[in-house]
Amino acid sequence: MINLALFGPPGAGKGTQSEFLVKEYGLFYISTGDLLRKEMAEGTRLGEEARSVIASGGLVSDEIIVQIIEKAIVENPEANGFLFDGFPRTWVQCYILEGLLLKLGASLDLLVSLEVDAETSVSRLVERGRSSGRLDDNEEVIRNRLREYEDKTLPVLGYFREKGVYRAVDGARSIPEVSDSIRALVREELSKRPVNVVLFGYPGSGRGSQGAALARAYGLEYVSTGAMLDREIKLGTDTGKRIMELYDSGELVPDEIVVRLIEKRLSEAGEVRGFIFKGFPRTLVQSYILDGLLRKRGGSVSTVIDLEVPTLELIKRLDIRSKTDRAMPYDLTTARIVQRLKEHESKTVPVIEKYAQRHRVEKVDGTGSFEEVFARLSAVLERALKGNRG
Ligand code: AMP
Repeated sequence: MINLALFGPPGAGKGTQSEFLVKEYGLFYISTGDLLRKEMAEGTRLGEEARSVIASGGLVSDEIIVQIIEKAIVENPEANGFLFDGFPRTWVQCYILEGLLLKLGASLDLLVSLEVDAETSVSRLVERGRSSGRLDDNEEVIRNRLREYEDKTLPVLGYFREKGVYRAVDGARSIPEVSDSIRALVREELSKRPVNVVLFGYPGSGRGSQGAALARAYGLEYVSTGAMLDREIKLGTDTGKRIMELYDSGELVPDEIVVRLIEKRLSEAGEVRGFIFKGFPRTLVQSYILDGLLRKRGGSVSTVIDLEVPTLELIKRLDIRSKTDRAMPYDLTTARIVQRLKEHESKTVPVIEKYAQRHRVEKVDGTGSFEEVFARLSAVLERALKGNRG
């Protein structure tokens, strides 16, 4: 999640610049001005209370602002982040924002200030007033809005400067130039964040070999639960012995064991940029466990990839593998292969669907040579590392 605020006097271009941010980063846009205009258009109680203040260019009460923002945040819990425009507009609203985001376990990551001088503001707004139909886009009210900005809104910069999240951008340039500067700031912020990838795919899709290669190439830690269980067995640890007993009796390895192993692995990894998970989460329960494990490190799942290979091709690949020394114990009979494919279909496909509601699941074509598939996966990963949804 990334939470941004666009800051600047009326006419600085906040609304215009918000458009690309929403598209590229999947943010939910909250413009208090737009929300208030909507309330007015619908004739709600809040809208009626705000109308005369807006018409004069003054600031609407915090009471009203909190209600409309809270509603917008609560109604969009799955957003990739929020983009605030026109809020916080006073020193008090800085604290209000912190309080509202705290509920989501988040905070404001970046306050981008579009700096333009007063005359540029006025001339842009007078121009906009010819077509916007806004009751506050006329010169007299504009001058009042700017006074309110100077008196009440500018102190907001000091608040976020102290927190280290304030960044200034010259807003007098062309729209694409300003967008480029904002994009660079967002990327810089995102590039500091952990990248945690979940690599899904049917058995035989190549997720194991691709996952390990990607982790090596991009300095991420590869976490394969299957390989971890195997290792415990080979090392003959107590956990390994317990896993063997479970395998022999045909039972599933309980989440308790898997969680302990992953927890250990994550804590031993130290300061890595992120992880690639393969073979986990396999069930809906495990998807919540993964969220919890990453949360403990201050991270979350950032990229979900589904490596797609047609079923017939999967069976062919698994059959070939079963005749090589790379054969896994579970590859050895057709019945087991079919069982694993079915298991994926019934338990793991719903997990991918769950992720699809919250994140974008990157569907990657898993057919072709190893290098071809690796190149496709690398492109996805590089976008993720730059924080771009592409
Ligand atoms: P805007 O579209 O952001 O220029 O907002 C238009 C008008 O809505 C402002 O001049 C204020 O009257 C009111 N308004 C918008 N956001 C806020 C806020 N955060 N606090 C107080 N008043 C606001």
